Amino acid sequence: MEKLEVLFTEEQLRSKVKELAERINRDYQGKELLVVGILRGAFVFMADLVRNLEMPVIIDFVAVSSYGDDTVSSGVVRILKDLDETITGKHVLLVEDIIDTGLTLKYLCKNLEARGPASLRVCTILDKPSRRRVEFTPDYNGFTIPDYFVVGYGLDCAQRYRNLPSIYILHQECRDICLTKGELGCE
Ligand code: IMP
Repeated sequence: MEKLEVLFTEEQLRSKVKELAERINRDYQGKELLVVGILRGAFVFMADLVRNLEMPVIIDFVAVSSYGDDTVSSGVVRILKDLDETITGKHVLLVEDIIDTGLTLKYLCKNLEARGPASLRVCTILDKPSRRRVEFTPDYNGFTIPDYFVVGYGLDCAQRYRNLPSIYILHQECRDICLTKGELGCE
């Protein structure tokens, strides 16, 4: 068995990012946008997305932890690195790599809403709605996928694979090797 199965190619990702950016450009025309990436997974998608945005943009990052290195959601969300910017009165777009249980974004949105932004929306490249533990619908979503574990384009397994330019399914056996031995699975 191939250790990685391509789910979305670079070309598919490029055209989806363009499509999302066009919608965002229309929705925020004439406004300044504070784009907040959720570290670490969103860094690749965010870098592609912001280069397709046409309004004035400010960039910031927030780092959260909910999984540790085991990929099973504990349900506990912690802010490891808060925003550097004040968001009160600003239009904020949170950028995420994938929405799974929804716990991370539910918590983050509640936390950021309390700071009084002019608006707060969420953009994700992938969504796995079948795994939700809390209700959450992103404002902008690239692809809805089944319950696959995916890597590449910023997404990791135990911090590996983030640099791969496409998105791949990492099958269970390979994922187990990656998690237990701390090695790239199935090599
Ligand atoms: P949740 O929506 O709070 O459960 O967590 C979303 C976070 O879980 C994402 O930002 C990823 O860091 C991680 N995650 C969920 N599913 C996957 C996956 O298939 N591959 C890699 N990371 C994932």
